[in-house]
Amino acid sequence: MAHGAHRTPSLPPHPDLTLARDCELCLGWGTVVTRDGDHELCHSCQPDPLGDQGAAASGT
Ligand SMILES: [Zn+2]
Repeated sequence: MAHGAHRTPSLPPHPDLTLARDCELCLGWGTVVTRDGDHELCHSCQPDPLGDQGAAASGT
């Protein structure tokens, strides 16, 4: 009966909708959908829950 163990049960954290209100990235949702279809806090308007991720990750 091993079933349903594919998806991570982790629900998206609680975004601060006040911060997300004027955000163009998440359009006020406070969360964004990744390529994997997972929801995660919007990097643009929400404080990083991990604290040390994405600080120097992306470069253009
Ligand atoms: Zn946002």
